[in-house]
Amino acid sequence: MVYFVGAGPGAEDLITVRGLNYLRQADVIIYAGSLVNPALLKEAKQDCEIYNSAYMALDEVIAVMEEAERRELFTVRLHTGDPSIYGAIREQMDELDKRGIAFSVCPGVSSLFGAASALQVEYTLPGVSQSVIISRAEGRTPVPEQESIRKLAAHQSTMVLFLSSGLAEKVREELLAGGYCAETPVAVVYKATWPEEKILHTTIEKLPEDMAREGINKTALIVVGNVLGKEYQKSKLYDAAFTTGFRKGTVREDIAPDFGINTTVLIACSIQAYEVMKELEHNLKIGQQGSKIICLVKCSSLGEVSDRRSLKEMVGEWFYQCDAMIFIGSSGIAVRSIAPYIRHKSTDPAVIVLDGKAEHCISLLSGHAGGANDLARKIAQYTGAVPVVTTATDLDGKFAVDDFARKNQMAVMDWDIAKRISAGILEGERIGVYSEIPLTGELPSELFFIGKDSSGLKNCLSSSLICISYRPLEYIPMFKEYRESSEWQILTLVPKLVVVGIGCRKGTPEEKINDAVAQCLREQGIRKEALCAVASIELKREEKGLLDFCRGTKLKFLTYTAQELLGVEGEFSSSPFVEEVTGVPCVCERSAALAAGKECEFLCRKKIYNGVAIALAAKKGKGIF
Ligand code: SAH
Repeated sequence: MVYFVGAGPGAEDLITVRGLNYLRQADVIIYAGSLVNPALLKEAKQDCEIYNSAYMALDEVIAVMEEAERRELFTVRLHTGDPSIYGAIREQMDELDKRGIAFSVCPGVSSLFGAASALQVEYTLPGVSQSVIISRAEGRTPVPEQESIRKLAAHQSTMVLFLSSGLAEKVREELLAGGYCAETPVAVVYKATWPEEKILHTTIEKLPEDMAREGINKTALIVVGNVLGKEYQKSKLYDAAFTTGFRKGTVREDIAPDFGINTTVLIACSIQAYEVMKELEHNLKIGQQGSKIICLVKCSSLGEVSDRRSLKEMVGEWFYQCDAMIFIGSSGIAVRSIAPYIRHKSTDPAVIVLDGKAEHCISLLSGHAGGANDLARKIAQYTGAVPVVTTATDLDGKFAVDDFARKNQMAVMDWDIAKRISAGILEGERIGVYSEIPLTGELPSELFFIGKDSSGLKNCLSSSLICISYRPLEYIPMFKEYRESSEWQILTLVPKLVVVGIGCRKGTPEEKINDAVAQCLREQGIRKEALCAVASIELKREEKGLLDFCRGTKLKFLTYTAQELLGVEGEFSSSPFVEEVTGVPCVCERSAALAAGKECEFLCRKKIYNGVAIALAAKKGKGIF
């Protein structure tokens, strides 16, 4: 077996671990004597046969390999740098193939990288160059015309020229003819990573003279490009606000209470848009004490090549995780990239498009349920753009039930009925509203109240009603009789105000918690949609079952220290066992009370289901028109 091994650029400790292991096992080594550091040969076994290919033609090299193979020896062919770059390994591999001799290739550190480390440069700088062209000047080996330095220079990319240090005049001529300006910085690295390494900093204009003065005419790389200069833009990869596949962007824990928008994804589609985005991000931060903003920039001209996924893929990753997605760019880009992910207004995020000059701000998707209309108006206010809102109820300035539900954090139980109610309102119907929580603000003229005694029901001309309650309809006496009749379409809006306090033993699995909560809700006649948070003691902060339950139900998980729980005022259950373990006589009731706030009401005191203690407390809430 023959092993082609990259020896690295020069320094003897820049060979790979694998390469070194091969070297140590070799019975035969054929090394490229002109450039491989002979110090590496110290690693060879004592009886290893060593050949210097500098004195050998291809057929001689192959003959040595063939003979070694016949004797079933381990052969290493040691190349400088990485064998794939001007290594002339293809011709050797082809000859071995012809002879049926197996081989394998072990990579090495190319002098391309040895030189970068010597220069301490980054070849790919955002805003300067995002490509590295590896090439050579034409010498005895011809270079295809379309790859002449002159042609490649047109890209103005970073250029690294091998095998060209004896052709400096020609290199200058070609680079200038290709469009580089004469002052473009050039670095010449002679014997990178060797003890005799030498670095020359110059410009295209002075290249041949400076090289001659320094006496550099072989074993050097010529690096050309503005990456050697001072100007560049900071990488988006490590920008605190940039999200990559590996690192979540800065998430600010300040939630906008009036928006209910927690996670916003901002997408800029050009440099200009990027500027607008930065400003917007800044303003949103100031304006809404509270928004979590994740910036995701897809902008090739800014050098976002670190993330190779398409915009569509990136949007796919975020679409179901965020509350709002703001595109700064054309609506076409936005529409195409969200298209595959759109499901239903109950789950789709708000999608906004702001054009690159911030002249128009379009509410594109989830205008009501997702809050896109409000958000578009708010952004318009900040940026001076014209808000573009196209939902029908907004055009007529009429009550929109889905918008009301979102603003008041209520779950919509039936989207078909919601649609029918909106359609009815647009046709001039008045809709009856029954509510178990106080409603404040001015009652829109499209609505009228229905009292608990069903007063007002007879005035109801439309067949649709709105019922605001935690409870299923069969628990509300007034609706019980109507439930069966097909005449009435009742839309229940469920206020998310109920906190479930949970106490459980260590290691309680998610299913047990799930069952306990479900059973408690069933017994109490409370819809699961009414839950807004799970509360427990600090001790349970990492309790897997509880965390999984919260993840599964998408509920916030709030924990309190024993001290905080002891400090809650009120009458609570008490268990010596719980107190011994946690330092608090009752975790579920106290944590629920703390999370639900001062004027909360207990819907269910501590109950134990299969070892899981549950308490339900409702925040004092109201609906605001
Ligand atoms: N496979 C090697 C390149 C072989 S071609 C690699 O990956 O590096 C030989 C050319 O490589 C030389 O003419 C020179 O241009 C460059 N080179 C090799 N080692 C070098 C070093 N240590 N410093 C600078 N240039 C080097």
